[in-house]
Amino acid sequence: MDRLTAQQRHQNMAAIRSKDTKPEMIVRRGLWKRGFRYRLNHKRLPGHPDLVLKKYRTCIFVNGCFWHGHLVDMQTFENSECCKIPKTNRDFWMAKIRRNNERDREEQRTLANMGWHCIIVWECELKPQKREETLDSIAFTLNHIWLQDHGVKSVPYPNLEEEDMQMPMAAESDY
Ligand SMILES: [Zn+2]
Repeated sequence: MDRLTAQQRHQNMAAIRSKDTKPEMIVRRGLWKRGFRYRLNHKRLPGHPDLVLKKYRTCIFVNGCFWHGHLVDMQTFENSECCKIPKTNRDFWMAKIRRNNERDREEQRTLANMGWHCIIVWECELKPQKREETLDSIAFTLNHIWLQDHGVKSVPYPNLEEEDMQMPMAAESDY
């Protein structure tokens, strides 16, 4: 039974819509469609990664460009294309972004020490015109990680060299 008022329903729909278009959702759906399976917001791992792919020993963080200071030099704090720090309360924002940045790096270091790979996906890389390319490149990276972790090397052709050497000689001796 639908017991929501029109106003509540409107609010609910708006909430659902914004949740669905969240960058995390784009990554989740995109990877699911490409056949990857994952867990969400793993509470026991540092930084609570947005997606955890155990088979690939990989954590994926989907980062907002502003909060995590994408492409911002932590010394000069010049604005980047996707992270523009407000002029008012600039020191406050800089301190906040710097703290986030330091925490990100610390968490990634800890995860690496625990044997996890980390993939950072940036919000700006998920804009409609870049999205598919970004998702393809995550899929490529994951497959690459899997091959590396499992030590898959190119398989040498058995004795090809020897046969190549011998055959012409054998043929020659027939004449
Ligand atoms: Zn960005």
